[in-house]
Amino acid sequence: MNIILFGPPAAGKGTQARRLSAERNMAHLATGDMLRAARSAGTPLGAKVADIMDRGELVSDEIVISLIEENLSQSDAAGGAIFDGFPRTVPQAEALEAVLNRRGESLDVVVHLKVDEDQLVGRVEKRLAEEGRTDDELDTFLHRLKGYGEYAGLLLPYYENQGKVRTVDGMRSPDEVFTAICAALDAVPA
Ligand code: AMP
Repeated sequence: MNIILFGPPAAGKGTQARRLSAERNMAHLATGDMLRAARSAGTPLGAKVADIMDRGELVSDEIVISLIEENLSQSDAAGGAIFDGFPRTVPQAEALEAVLNRRGESLDVVVHLKVDEDQLVGRVEKRLAEEGRTDDELDTFLHRLKGYGEYAGLLLPYYENQGKVRTVDGMRSPDEVFTAICAALDAVPA
C-alpha cells in the first residue's frame, strides 16, 4: 500500500509515519528528513537548499522529485511506502503517480491529518526546544504554515477528485491518532 501522510508542519506526520513504518513494514520517505540529512552531511545539495529551507520556502520540484525517485528505487519494503512532506505541489503529485506507475503500483490513500493552528504553534515550540530546527522559529514557522494553506488548497481538491482523501482528527493523543490512521487504511479495499 502506498500512502501520503498529508498535514501542516508539526501535525505529527513524522511520529505517525515512523510508527506505521515499523508496524506495517512500510518505507518512510520524508523529503524534509532527506534534505536535512543532505545538509548535515555537507553535500552540494545540502548547501544549495540551506537558505531556502531556513526561510521556510519550498525547494524546487526537480530536487524533491529526484530524491523521492532515488529513495523509492532503493526501497523494497513489503508493506509499501509512506510519503511524508511530499508532494507539496501538483507537479510533484503528478511525478509521484508516474514514478509509482513505472513500478506497476499506484497511490492508495491520502491521510489528511487535521490539527488547529493554535495547537500547532504549541507543538512547534516544543520541537524547537528539542531539535533546534531554525525553520521552527515562530516567524518562519508561521510562514511555512501560510505556505501549507496555499498548497493544501490545491492538493487536497486534487486528491479529493480522485476519491483518495481520508481525514483524521490529529488533535488527539498520538496513540489515538495512530489507531484512527490504521482504521482508515484498513477500510481501503485491497
Ligand atoms: P518538512 O520537514 O517536511 O517540514 O520540510 C522541511 C523543509 O524542507 C520545508 O520547509 C521545505 O523547505 C523543504 N521541503 C521538504 N519537502 C518538500 C517538498 N515536497 N517540496 C518542496 N520543499 C520541501
